[in-house]
Amino acid sequence: MTHLERTEDMDYWQLAIKIHELSEVGSKEFESSRILMDVLKSHGFKITEKYMNIPTAFKAEKVVGSGKPSVAFLAEYDALPGIGHACGHNLIASSAVFSAIKSAERISNGTIAVYGTPDEEGSGEWAGSKIIMADQGAFKNFDLVLGSHPGDRWNVGNQSLAVQDFEVTFRGKAAHEAANPDSGRSALDAAILTYNAVNMMRQHVRREANFVMHGIIKEGGTASNVTPEKAVLTYGIRTSDIQYHKELVDRFTKIVEGCSIATETTYSIKKIGLLFSTTKINPALSNRIREHLLARGISCPPLEETISELPKGSTDFANVSQVVPALEVGFQIASEGTPWHSRESLEAAKTERAKEALATMIEVLSDTAKEFTENKEFRERIQRDFYSKSA
Ligand SMILES: [Zn+2]
Repeated sequence: MTHLERTEDMDYWQLAIKIHELSEVGSKEFESSRILMDVLKSHGFKITEKYMNIPTAFKAEKVVGSGKPSVAFLAEYDALPGIGHACGHNLIASSAVFSAIKSAERISNGTIAVYGTPDEEGSGEWAGSKIIMADQGAFKNFDLVLGSHPGDRWNVGNQSLAVQDFEVTFRGKAAHEAANPDSGRSALDAAILTYNAVNMMRQHVRREANFVMHGIIKEGGTASNVTPEKAVLTYGIRTSDIQYHKELVDRFTKIVEGCSIATETTYSIKKIGLLFSTTKINPALSNRIREHLLARGISCPPLEETISELPKGSTDFANVSQVVPALEVGFQIASEGTPWHSRESLEAAKTERAKEALATMIEVLSDTAKEFTENKEFRERIQRDFYSKSA
């Protein structure tokens, strides 16, 4: 970007490039969030800074006519530590801000909002800020939430995995391992038993539930001639079935308890971070957005195709989709197979191709918001899918 003095005059591409240059990591996106707020303010949005007491979060809102129905766009603007905007969140930021501005210009009645949601990548204190917002009722007055995410393909819906991280601490009894081993109780033994028992559990889980469990032994003693009195493990438990997640956590807890009994140690289990939910798919919303994309010449695969793929990751957008009809549309900025969080995706997030895809995304999201405010039948279909069990 060349010397632009007034940030609030930025267009969608200048904004995307500016956020890319700033490269602020999660929970520290102070300047990035400030610029987004300035741009929205200059287009008549009312700003709430430090939304929900999260330092780099915000809410921007514009009421048009009757103020109903309401549509919110979610902005992300955190970069990855050490590399920069290799997840393309600079484009998500611009997409949300300019889709909202454009929507507010095009509708006759409705409320259009942008939520600034920090730290999607989980590098700081406010990791998974959308979960905090969803849990605390940020979206309860909203009828629809829209977002977007750049990638190596277009898509109108993906499954994601629920995930919760845990830290397990075992405490035993220190003793001289040669002089009086009989009085020692090894916390490391409890940790190793747990690690092995978890591996045995893998065979006895529902195959279609996409169970993934990753763990390490973080601490396992200090000297080989001292019985380890403290051992620490960390685990992440993931599955594509949120109900099943509870059962898996239960079984994990039993394993830990059993291993502590077997080794005569004590244990504590602590949750680390927040519970990321699974994504609730809304076919009426996804299929309609796909039609808007096709109408603009984008070849986007059908929903059935992308949601049947193996879910790979977890996102805090999923928690939003559980409380309000929501979709994060995937837009293509690099050729298929390009690795993400890489040097290639870092470059891709500022190319001419990204610019074109972002422009399309803004058009399509504002088309959708406009249609949503005008078409009662469309709104009802989305509501029906939201409350139907299969969705
Ligand atoms: Zn991302």
